[in-house]
Amino acid sequence: MPSAREALSNAPVAGGYRPFRELGPFSVDMDRLFAPWRIEWIKRDLKNPTIDECVFCELPERAADRENRIVARSDRSFVMLNNYPYNPGHVMVIPRVHTGDYGALDDEVVLDHARLKQRTLAAVEEALDVDGFNVGLNLGDAAGGSIDDHVHTHVVPRWAGDTNFMPVVGDTKVIVEAIEATYDQLHDAFAAQEDASVEAEDRAVEFDW
Ligand SMILES: [Zn+2]
Repeated sequence: MPSAREALSNAPVAGGYRPFRELGPFSVDMDRLFAPWRIEWIKRDLKNPTIDECVFCELPERAADRENRIVARSDRSFVMLNNYPYNPGHVMVIPRVHTGDYGALDDEVVLDHARLKQRTLAAVEEALDVDGFNVGLNLGDAAGGSIDDHVHTHVVPRWAGDTNFMPVVGDTKVIVEAIEATYDQLHDAFAAQEDASVEAEDRAVEFDW
């Protein structure tokens, strides 16, 4: 399995697509950066008859963490890989409470979510040798979020000269394999951190702080 850096630099370029590095330093616009999670998999999951309401509420209730790409959990938050990643290692840090209003999160949730975000940055950096991160919330319709009634923070690793992984790679099978490999790498990196425990290989790493 190539490293994320190799996957990006060796990926075939899809027809007509021009990587950022050819476009110069001012080409990374916010729309491109924060729009990709008008995500196919969420559309798919919303069509899934076994999910009645909110995917971010329902998926962590289930035992199938690996299948649902949930890689880490704390008392009040969890980390899930994005199935439509901007880059390899693109994850979301999500409070368990169902609200789209970041300001409505109580202190305990804000602290727990922020701690898990810190741990996520460390795990992704350790696992994928990144050059940087974009971290952020998409709040409100105009911001391009797909799910606007349940707060989620995107953590997107960046490498010098990278480009949008999805249009570059394009092939669903390659992307699924890459996500599964990334899951394992992140699972190992989270499991090596303080306060972490792993009940079973197909379960998320649990943090107790
Ligand atoms: Zn929800």
